[in-house]
Amino acid sequence: MAFEMKYHITTRYLGKPSKRRSGLPISPGVKFVVAHDTGNPNSTAAQNVKYYENSRDEMSASAHLFVDDREIIECIPAVEAAIPEKAWHVLYKLEADNQLFGFNANDAAIGVEYCYGDRINADEAYKKYVWLIAYICYKFGLDPASKVVGHFFLDPHRKTDPVTGLAHSRRTYDQLLRDIVSEHQACTGTAAVVPAAPFTNEHGTVTAAVKLNIRSGAPNTRAAIHQTVPPGTQLEYFLVVRDGEPVNGNPVWYGDGDGHFFWSGGVAAAA
Ligand SMILES: [Zn+2]
Repeated sequence: MAFEMKYHITTRYLGKPSKRRSGLPISPGVKFVVAHDTGNPNSTAAQNVKYYENSRDEMSASAHLFVDDREIIECIPAVEAAIPEKAWHVLYKLEADNQLFGFNANDAAIGVEYCYGDRINADEAYKKYVWLIAYICYKFGLDPASKVVGHFFLDPHRKTDPVTGLAHSRRTYDQLLRDIVSEHQACTGTAAVVPAAPFTNEHGTVTAAVKLNIRSGAPNTRAAIHQTVPPGTQLEYFLVVRDGEPVNGNPVWYGDGDGHFFWSGGVAAAA
């Protein structure tokens, strides 16, 4: 199984041994990926790595890779190296990583930092970030659906990354997790890429007849629930999808043009 190499990964390894790069190999192997953001809007991948290098003996904090809209830089050996090394990107004393994956993140996870901000093209940076995490999963034989976790999930009292960075890019954490799985499938060719459902642009208002789920991302019941509205809610739509997932034999879904969909069978009548 091959993986489509959409982007180049630049290696710019920090000097070792140093506080940021111990040179210790990840042991007993890469078991999961931790998604971070830099927490520093508009700082680029190159700037972050340069800062790391200049302060490599000042702090034992690091991550393996930085991604912005222009490039991907690996500064601690990870996917581009024969022997991945440890980086210090999650507090050792936390228990969530051990509970979820059986290891401390610093011993067994690759840390990937997302660069964001008004001066960074969010669409480009996000595409690279999704691709890179999918590629790391491929490289180390990890299930992309279960072996990627956000830093905030492991350290909820101190951290909000990568949720904050993704929000700057108009994306959510749930969307990131789903997009990584899709990208992994697309780049390995293990599953057909589902083409976007044909739709027509139509505008109108309908009324929810039941307690109705508004889905995020796709016109089907597997898509995440964005919102649940009570019966009687007026819902404006801007597109009609005629081959969404059939529910009770009816495949027509409405879309708000902003990535949210609801099933036409759950609404009363066009107003
Ligand atoms: Zn983090």
